[in-house]
Amino acid sequence: MDPRIFCIGRNYAEHIRELGHPEDGDCVVFMKPASCLVAPDQPVVIPTDRGAVHHEAELVVRIGCEASHVDPDAATAAVDALALGLDLTLRDEQNRLRKDGKPWELAKAFDHAAPLGPFTPWNGEVPLNAITFTCRVNGELRQQGDTRQMIFSVPRIISILSRTWRLRPGDLIYTGTPAGVAALQPGDIVELDSSVLQSARWAIHGYDAPQKLG
Ligand code: ZN
Repeated sequence: MDPRIFCIGRNYAEHIRELGHPEDGDCVVFMKPASCLVAPDQPVVIPTDRGAVHHEAELVVRIGCEASHVDPDAATAAVDALALGLDLTLRDEQNRLRKDGKPWELAKAFDHAAPLGPFTPWNGEVPLNAITFTCRVNGELRQQGDTRQMIFSVPRIISILSRTWRLRPGDLIYTGTPAGVAALQPGDIVELDSSVLQSARWAIHGYDAPQKLG
């Protein structure tokens, strides 16, 4: 079964401010299809004719067991692995859709919109609320994340999701991005690093040639 990909929006205050949104306390949840996933070191092919594609570097949590209506206190038991990933976003398109009150799928759920790094098994030794990570593009530091700064902690996110969905093994949660999001160009190299998680790296390619059917 394909994994379900849950994504949390607006989970770091500085990123909310850089996009000009109010900090209204809602937990923003959206989903991406499994066709968004790109394995580490595989080419990431992005749209080139629909405005800026922003990188959003995020901690990704993999669920290891069924979980329904779990309290935050018990939620970490559902985590079995962590990774670093990118929530790629067609920002101009997202802003247009948001202004019109339309759903975000066209901006967030396109093919290759969720590159996913290698998993590091999680056994409770690394505190989920003290993980730092970086995003570099062509060697230049773009984003620095620290899960201490999350508005909704990983246990709270799992608890909230588990009230709407019975979480199941393999489900993925992209937990939101810190400040520093910016546009990617074909030819860019994106690198995600953390002292406690496996690194990930992708080369960005542009999608332009029309594809044939079949
Ligand atoms: Zn995101």
